[in-house]
Amino acid sequence: MMSDPEFKRQIYESYMHTAVRYCYQCSRCDDNCPVHAVTAAYSPRQNILKALLGINFVSAENRLAIYGCTVCDTCDEVCPNKIPLTHIFAVLKNLAAARNIAPDSFKGQGKSVHDNGTAIPISPPIARRRSAMGLPEKYELPISDVQAVMKATGFTDKLAKISIEPKKTTEA
Ligand code: SF4
Ligand code: SF4
Repeated sequence: MMSDPEFKRQIYESYMHTAVRYCYQCSRCDDNCPVHAVTAAYSPRQNILKALLGINFVSAENRLAIYGCTVCDTCDEVCPNKIPLTHIFAVLKNLAAARNIAPDSFKGQGKSVHDNGTAIPISPPIARRRSAMGLPEKYELPISDVQAVMKATGFTDKLAKISIEPKKTTEA
């Protein structure tokens, strides 16, 4: 695999120039990653290696390697070199999203935050559970404020460009 200078520049400018610490591939991140524990197809160690070498693996085929991270932050805590892995993974996700490469669930949640002010709108079962816990069934969300922030940060423009595959329905 060839090194991609532009990809390397984007990764390095986002983080490496401020905290130059080198991954020595000890695998502590892999050993403690809950996602890697269930699938070898996701490896924070390999992601960091490729990022450091500038091997551009941002593609639709590598969606799991880019979006598999649940951002539990465990790898950040166990890395002996204090490499902020999850920050680098966020850069990878942003590079992928800029090319409309993202799971539909992520795109759908972004749209929901824009339209409803929350990723998970209050559904009747949620309202019932809230009521059972003594909470108001519904609450007002500052949707216009959320949309203003999304517009100012360019998220609204990005949202307009992404495509979400229609859900497949099974025939009765
Ligand atoms: S724990 Fe840190 S140093 Fe070790 S492989 Fe992972 S990123 Fe590299
Ligand atoms: S933050 Fe992501 S890569 Fe790191 S341990 Fe958690 S799931 Fe794995």
